[in-house]
Amino acid sequence: MTDSCIFCKIVSGEAKATIVYRDGQVTAFRDLHPVAPTHILIVPNKHIESVSALEPDDEQLVGHLFTVASGLANEEGISKGGYRLITNTGVDGGQTVFHLHLHLIGGQRMRYPMG
Ligand code: 5GP
Ligand code: ZN
Repeated sequence: MTDSCIFCKIVSGEAKATIVYRDGQVTAFRDLHPVAPTHILIVPNKHIESVSALEPDDEQLVGHLFTVASGLANEEGISKGGYRLITNTGVDGGQTVFHLHLHLIGGQRMRYPMG
């Protein structure tokens, strides 16, 4: 937990969010500014700044983030149609909240290419 991190505050319950899933390792909640009908953020409960800060011990946790994303996509009814998972990393990657998170975005046809 870092004092100034909004996602740490959501994980701890200090800040409000629409939480859709929680377990001992991860928390998932709806993005404040959704860009599609489904836009959920899946975050580790412990503070990790970004993909760049991952340690070898985090491998199981990163796999779990994807498994939870897959389950939530099922619950949202977007598995069959498809969806996009994004992890912006660092300033050039477009990251604005420096607590690792997976965006689960779907419910509409995504545009491509990105960037
Ligand atoms: P990033 O730009 O770091 O990849 O994504 C950060 C995401 O967090 C953005 O999509 C933004 O809308 C979302 N966000 C920022 N602050 C809050 C907040 O306080 N609550 C929720 N639910 N989402 C937030
Ligand atoms: Zn944090």
